[in-house]
Amino acid sequence: MKNCKLTCLICSLMLMSSAAWSADEKPEITLCGELAQGKIIKGHGENLQKIRINGANHQVDKNGDFIFALTREQKPQTTLEVTAKDGQVYSYDLNIAKSQWDIQNIKGLPPRKVTPSQEDQAEINRERTLVRGALKGDRLETYWKNGFVEPVQGRISGHFGGQRIMNGHKMNPHAGTDIAAPIGTPIKAAGDGIVTLTAPDTFYSGNVVVIDHGHGLQTIYAHMNKIDVKEKQFVKKGDIIGEVGKTGRVTGPHLHWGASLRNTRFIPHSLLDLGKENSACVILN
Ligand SMILES: [Zn+2]
Repeated sequence: MKNCKLTCLICSLMLMSSAAWSADEKPEITLCGELAQGKIIKGHGENLQKIRINGANHQVDKNGDFIFALTREQKPQTTLEVTAKDGQVYSYDLNIAKSQWDIQNIKGLPPRKVTPSQEDQAEINRERTLVRGALKGDRLETYWKNGFVEPVQGRISGHFGGQRIMNGHKMNPHAGTDIAAPIGTPIKAAGDGIVTLTAPDTFYSGNVVVIDHGHGLQTIYAHMNKIDVKEKQFVKKGDIIGEVGKTGRVTGPHLHWGASLRNTRFIPHSLLDLGKENSACVILN
């Protein structure tokens, strides 16, 4: 009898501890989008404080929604770290599919734009500082939730991620997508946001605009003929921000459309699927 009481006591203690354990069990996380290199992913979870991937923290809004991007070189095994509101940290293993990147052989660029002189270096540094500054933004707003459109419709003349060979020199992979269109074609804001950079006449990007969509997400518009917006201006998805041009390092008129999320450059067109009802989702726990 005494033994039974003891067993029952241990039993109920175990039940209590298992009840306490279930109160802070691993949160269920939903991820929507293609888990592949260079793609943007939308996620959701209850009672989350923040998430962390590739060494960067990402905000979670009051509804439990967040976004992150997978790099061009994202490893097949990647860890997503989630901090719950009570401070507990949980890890999730993600399996990332490989993406295909092409080779872009670009000839006929002005030699100065491929192998710049010492004197050009100050201009290049000025451009880097401006663009990097604009891509540091991590606003609380979630303008990205209102969806995205293509800023210009036209032939894709250079895909994101392509290994570029310029005038025979191996350069960095292409950080955006080039859309060919005649000079003067109107450029739309890809999504709602705040214009955080309007820089005229930069060395590589020419006339360049950056729009901040909140949570560390920005879109970049380069080589513009004309800029029709001002810094700190709020734009709606589809508003005209300027015209297609051929300023900066180009061989012909096109829009270079870039996208950056917490400093990870990704495929801009993957924004068009962000949060779509029918996009593929996985549940992790
Ligand atoms: Zn480009």
